[in-house]
Amino acid sequence: MRIDLMTLFPDMCRAVLDESILGRAQKKGVLEVHCHQIREYTKNRQMQVDDYPYGGGQGLVMYAQPIADCFRAVCEQAGTRPHLVYMSPQGAVLTQKRAKELSEMPALCVLCGHYEGVDERVLEALVDEQISIGDYVLTGGELPALALIDCVSRLVPGVLSEETCYTDESHYSGLLEYPQYTRPAEWEGREIPDVLLTGHHENIRRWRREQALLRTAKLRPDMLKTAELLEEDRRFLVENGFSDPKE
Ligand code: SAM
Repeated sequence: MRIDLMTLFPDMCRAVLDESILGRAQKKGVLEVHCHQIREYTKNRQMQVDDYPYGGGQGLVMYAQPIADCFRAVCEQAGTRPHLVYMSPQGAVLTQKRAKELSEMPALCVLCGHYEGVDERVLEALVDEQISIGDYVLTGGELPALALIDCVSRLVPGVLSEETCYTDESHYSGLLEYPQYTRPAEWEGREIPDVLLTGHHENIRRWRREQALLRTAKLRPDMLKTAELLEEDRRFLVENGFSDPKE
């Protein structure tokens, strides 16, 4: 998959994207991430990227022209018009489901705002979708864009070693993940659950499912309303003192 990132801070983004799993995925060739400096597309001598808002008020607004020209260059380099996402606290909050859909697109371009954001006409003319990482405001779109790219990229085939690395995880199936343990089996007097040492796959699978249900019921009961639950899951929750989420 190809992902382009348009930002005023490409070095900051590259430093994160070239590390660890995403860095290895790029080296393997299953992921291509290109960071573009919007400032390079300015047409004024000072390479200014922003100006005061019409009508007055606080802060600076990013010009439309350098962003549009940067996006045109991205389209040319990619040989296609990528789906353009603007990171914004006004967008729909990112979910695992949306990340999965975006990971199936052939090309994605992510725009990071800064200061007060971007000229509204960029949104009207170019942006396909606005995505937020939560109902709070950061100084710039770089951290949100990195969160989006990380979340989308790990769902691209070949980035993680197995599909089950993410299908078993929190949010994929609508539940939180079960507890995980590693060696040693006893640490500072705390032992791991016996079932995990039995090697009995069916019992371990059932235990994990039950733990996922209990954990979700305790920490995120709202998720149970939409999670796909079997009759036995609902019965298990009721037997453990929770109300039937589907009633
Ligand atoms: N004036 C804007 C508003 O009130 O909606 C906020 C601008 S914010 C200070 C600067 C930039 O940070 C935004 O253009 C956006 O790219 C990014 N940003 C801030 N919070 C974000 C969030 N929760 N999700 C995604 N992007 C965010």
